[in-house]
Amino acid sequence: MLRLSVLLTLALFATLGSALSLDTTPVPGGIAVIPLPADADPASARYGDNKVLITKADDKPIAVIGLPLASKPGRHYLKIKDKLGKTLSIGFQVADKSYEEQHITIKDKRKVNPEKRDMERITRESKQIKQALRHWSSRDNVIVEFNQPVSGPTSSPFGLRRFFNEQARKPHSGLDIAAPEGTPIQAPAPGTVLDTGDFFFNGNTVLLDHGQGLVTMYCHMSKIDVTPGQTVDTGEVLGEVGMTGRVTGPHLHWGVSLNDARIDPVLFLPK
Ligand SMILES: [Zn+2]
Repeated sequence: MLRLSVLLTLALFATLGSALSLDTTPVPGGIAVIPLPADADPASARYGDNKVLITKADDKPIAVIGLPLASKPGRHYLKIKDKLGKTLSIGFQVADKSYEEQHITIKDKRKVNPEKRDMERITRESKQIKQALRHWSSRDNVIVEFNQPVSGPTSSPFGLRRFFNEQARKPHSGLDIAAPEGTPIQAPAPGTVLDTGDFFFNGNTVLLDHGQGLVTMYCHMSKIDVTPGQTVDTGEVLGEVGMTGRVTGPHLHWGVSLNDARIDPVLFLPK
């Protein structure tokens, strides 16, 4: 019985994906879109220990799952309870994806090899940012189709394996869009400002909560025009493009987190 529902799930993939206009090929740094069985309790859906975003496609409930860059290719499972409280495991296949290397030269060496006195600040800020990125708030009708927050060429895609001054660092967790300093940054979808700050690596930053574990992040801003707790509509200005923090030039670093997984923002833009 379970096997049959899994097969049906896979057969439904293509049609639901196109209804959402998201690229639903499950890869590390990507997303998986899973139709839910009719008798499932959406609020019980978990991927690992994390709650999962549930929305609708063609009026049927679907789970949209963020897959961390460190995901291992192979079989992954969405766990969900049916109305009787029995846990169902819905399997899906995560394919491999290799991301390219990027080598960057940073003139401010302290931004590559921070000094002892910087470490306390970096650790504190890292905790603060991680906490915002894994934030969960319940909200119906989460919008998963975004407007691009700034128009401009991609200066660095998501997922690149990075080397700063030839030293390996964490992979690129967002999308860089090049734009002149002072260009307004617009909210890609409705949300609530979760947090703002001036961070060592990310510079002036805004974190936006769109609901159900979908959080977006805007970095290196010259100016912040919003305050935590403020609600924003699609297109509302969050601040301006700048070059604060660890940068080589003015750009927006745009990050998207879903169920605490950093994923490729391009997946949420119209094709
Ligand atoms: Zn970036």
